[in-house]
Amino acid sequence: MGKSIDDYRAKRNFGRTPEPAPEGLDTRTPGARFVVHRHDARRLHYDLRIEMEGVLRSWAVPKGFSYDPKDKHLALRTEDHPLEYFDFHGLIPKGEYGAGSMTIWDRGRYEVLLAESPAQAVLDGELKLILRGRKLRGEWHMVKTRQEENSWLLFKSKDRYAGLARDSALGVDLDLALERDMPRSVRSMEAGGSRGAFSDPEWLFEARFEGRRLLIEKKGEQVRLRGLKRRFDGLEQAVRNVRAENALIDGVLLVQDENGRPDRERLARRLAGKSDDPLCFYAFDLLYYDEFDLRPLPLVDRKGALRAILPPSAELLFLDHVLGSGEDLLRATEAAGLRGIYAKRAGSAYRAGAHGDWQSIQAQGQAQSLDLGVAEALSKTQRHRTRNRVKYSNLDKVFWPAEGFTKGDLINYYERVADVLLPYLAERPVHLNRHPDGIEGKSFYQRQAKEGTPAWVTTELIASDTHGEAIPQIICNDRDTLMYLANLGSIDLHPWLSRRGSLDSPDWGIIDLDPKEAPFGDVVRIARETGMLLRGIGLRPLLKTSGATGLHIYVPLEPGYTYEQVRMFCEGVARVVARDLKEIATVERVIGAREGKVYVDYGQNRRGQTVVPPYVPRPVRGASVSTPLEWDELDSDLHPSKFTIQTVLRRLDERGDLFRPALDDPQDLMPAVAQLEEHLRR
Ligand code: MN
Repeated sequence: MGKSIDDYRAKRNFGRTPEPAPEGLDTRTPGARFVVHRHDARRLHYDLRIEMEGVLRSWAVPKGFSYDPKDKHLALRTEDHPLEYFDFHGLIPKGEYGAGSMTIWDRGRYEVLLAESPAQAVLDGELKLILRGRKLRGEWHMVKTRQEENSWLLFKSKDRYAGLARDSALGVDLDLALERDMPRSVRSMEAGGSRGAFSDPEWLFEARFEGRRLLIEKKGEQVRLRGLKRRFDGLEQAVRNVRAENALIDGVLLVQDENGRPDRERLARRLAGKSDDPLCFYAFDLLYYDEFDLRPLPLVDRKGALRAILPPSAELLFLDHVLGSGEDLLRATEAAGLRGIYAKRAGSAYRAGAHGDWQSIQAQGQAQSLDLGVAEALSKTQRHRTRNRVKYSNLDKVFWPAEGFTKGDLINYYERVADVLLPYLAERPVHLNRHPDGIEGKSFYQRQAKEGTPAWVTTELIASDTHGEAIPQIICNDRDTLMYLANLGSIDLHPWLSRRGSLDSPDWGIIDLDPKEAPFGDVVRIARETGMLLRGIGLRPLLKTSGATGLHIYVPLEPGYTYEQVRMFCEGVARVVARDLKEIATVERVIGAREGKVYVDYGQNRRGQTVVPPYVPRPVRGASVSTPLEWDELDSDLHPSKFTIQTVLRRLDERGDLFRPALDDPQDLMPAVAQLEEHLRR
């Protein structure tokens, strides 16, 4: 074993850490594997380890990976790890080097480009890697910086996989996928029965198009429409643009008539080479991806992967589905003159031949409106449906007894504020603070989407922390869902600080000034000080009332920061403020130890925690509303009780949405961190 492993050995006590001790010279043939550990240590980071010269050459990547080539992330070279580390995962005990949990986040094989050997490329300070993992794919570029000995930059090269700032090529968990060759022949899965229309949250529903069922195979640049002899250049070119090296796509090939309906006769003529009618292929399943057989994956994940790899194209289209509600889709397809729909169990694997997990549902009777195209008819029905989805109840029930405001007043307020409020809720798991009998009745806090949640309400299985069990949580993306939640008596709504797709990366850093018994004047003073501090270190913070007794300060963030990084930053800010205003501010968590001071709370910056968004009313006297403020409104006249479900809409008319920069003005924390450290040292 090379000397390079001595550092690794020196840093660890193998009697205490479960990490593997290096076992002496490794004589295995040089491999070409890489592994990425997610290391939830003092600061969460990702450790990229690449096998070469009998060791795992390692880099710590604090911000993780991004498929956006513009995101250049720091990667700090760390000590070589022994090959045994490739399979290591576990908890490194407190007090030991690297204490915290180490999990395998991704692994696979790699190749190095344009270099004599991987080791030489590292020595030369430039690595071009092809990664073949389950999350990391395609070409990645690592370049040593001139500034510091161990600092490198890591970024995605521009290739077919490059795209959005997310850290996984497909955004789908490939754990169940099998690494093996593309199957040469596959018997298509077919409906195993037929039944009437139904709704069930465990099923998804797809329009059924009359056409030629087909598997399309892509191997590198080679494209084959299995079972067809003729070439179809346009479609084949679209398949070549799929964001995958290899793919096997299931779908249906069709030619549409003037009304956008599939026409079997025209299709037959086209396939026989007797016409030039435009073809289109509706793709509805992905059986194979790069080197993975996806057939064991749940259907929704296969479709998620399919959606992620399809290029924009008029010939190669994604056949989208409706989750849960078969009747609505059936009505829409009937109106469009289609023969019916398929119901498919969302969690089902892909099986050969007929299977009960797929069912066909026949349209009843004749088409209603023959002059509509399919897409148009579907969208018309969609619009029609959305107007009638929520049936309000108990509108006269008094929710705020002192003021006499009713549930109807709450609903009315939410109706009017919906357009401004919804962007702050979109794609975030939302928790409900339900008061079915108003603010003086019993209330309960609801994290989980309950059984009986209508199928049209978007829910997602999400664990509140990375180790916990996933529970269905509501995502409020549209007006109907908002009104449904209001009708449940959810006076205030509590969204996460992060969104689906990047749940571990908050969009805002938040400091919550919570006075309890302290005078509001103290809160104002502390907010002013905090605002000055944040602006002084180059940030553009935003301010709002909590709607109850406190104030919230937000810093909108560029994507990619972890909760832990953001919390540490906010803690630093809170500590400076509590130190400089120690007679009125505290970071003491225990209420009894706060001595009547205002609590400067940075602890909300955590996965699964929530903070009320702007424009949400609170279950307190006066029906006050969380309201954005300009910084110069912070004076002794300010009192949060001025802003209520009766006054906020007028204020919105006059001033517009003052909080909009929370969505539009993401900020880089890194330069501010260095300056904050200056303040902390003073
Ligand atoms: Mn580490």
